[in-house]
Amino acid sequence: MNNKIHNCVIIGSGPAGYSSSIYAARSGLNPIILSGNLPGGQLINTNYIDNYLGFPNGINGSKFMDNCKKQAERFNVKILNESAFKVDLSNKVGGIHKIFFGKEKNNFFLSKGIIIATGSTPKTLGIKKEKKLLGSGISFCAVCDGFFYKKKNVAIVGGGDTALEYANYLSRICKKVYLLVRKNYLKASKILQNNVINNNNITILFKSTISDIIGDNVLEGIKIFNYNTKNYELKQISGLFIAIGHYPNTILFKNKLDLDSKGFIIVKNGGTNTSVPGIFAAGDVKDSNYKQAITSASSGCMAALDLEKYLYSL
Ligand SMILES: Cc1cc2nc3c(=O)[nH]c(=O)nc-3n(C[C@H](O)[C@H](O)[C@H](O)COP(=O)(O)OP(=O)(O)OC[C@H]3O[C@@H](n4cnc5c(N)ncnc54)[C@H](O)[C@@H]3O)c2cc1C
Repeated sequence: MNNKIHNCVIIGSGPAGYSSSIYAARSGLNPIILSGNLPGGQLINTNYIDNYLGFPNGINGSKFMDNCKKQAERFNVKILNESAFKVDLSNKVGGIHKIFFGKEKNNFFLSKGIIIATGSTPKTLGIKKEKKLLGSGISFCAVCDGFFYKKKNVAIVGGGDTALEYANYLSRICKKVYLLVRKNYLKASKILQNNVINNNNITILFKSTISDIIGDNVLEGIKIFNYNTKNYELKQISGLFIAIGHYPNTILFKNKLDLDSKGFIIVKNGGTNTSVPGIFAAGDVKDSNYKQAITSASSGCMAALDLEKYLYSL
């Protein structure tokens, strides 16, 4: 491993990583991407992206990410199919950071700038058929997939802000919305609670959980267990939205960067600067709110521009 000092190492190969790489490459920063154990990021798990600008007929998730990779390669972005396992961050302006990667203990890059685009991982229920029917009735994103269940019955699992936002959103599109809450109260903010409680199209099922997913190749319904009554109930639904939170992929940065209470990277003034000079964050890893491909790609662009400005100022 030589000790060349790079300008830009990007950790992650989702929309944020690729978008930042294209901007960084076109600014002459010769970026390197470490693509991690999910090359292409979360979108490779979806058959159909319907809401990304510029695709009038939608596009398959893997195809979309493959296009992003090809576009980055056109600008000679170096893409390594490796994961970063440790970072040593300099806390000085103009300092050199060290990114350890791969299986060999001593493989590292030295770089003045890092763009963190490690994304997040949706929490799952851990029940049978949940993974199999992902994209065939089961979804983690109401804004992405709600439209496919227009005028149909759907259920949402969760009692926090995201679940209630999903419920409100889906109630405007779907025939009937069931909100399954494990506790006997909602955790979400009062205003969201009021909206949901006063919405005739939403039925809240407290003390409820899913015991079985019905359907072999496509979701047909769910079996609900009620902790109070100990009864089971079958509900025919076409869509199931799991909204029990996301794990930000920030374990590498614990005690090295400022993180919020859920582990997301804190950025300054809605931009991409983190608490350490030369380290920028883009995409879901710094966004517990929007979590969309297009917002991730746009913050990837911002991170590359912010890094370029930083390097120029040194
Ligand atoms: C099933 C599903 C369907 C979705 N559908 C849509 C949709 O239709 N429209 C939409 O706008 N959004 C959709 N989303 C949300 C969208 O996928 C995310 O908002 C977006 O992918 C976030 O992009 P990102 O680049 O921030 O991170 P991610 O896509 O999460 O990518 C993170 C990257 O970081 C890498 N990584 C992690 N740790 C390391 C490490 N230590 N070293 C190196 N690399 C690392 C991973 O390998 C991965 O490549 C969907 C999400 C899911 C789960």
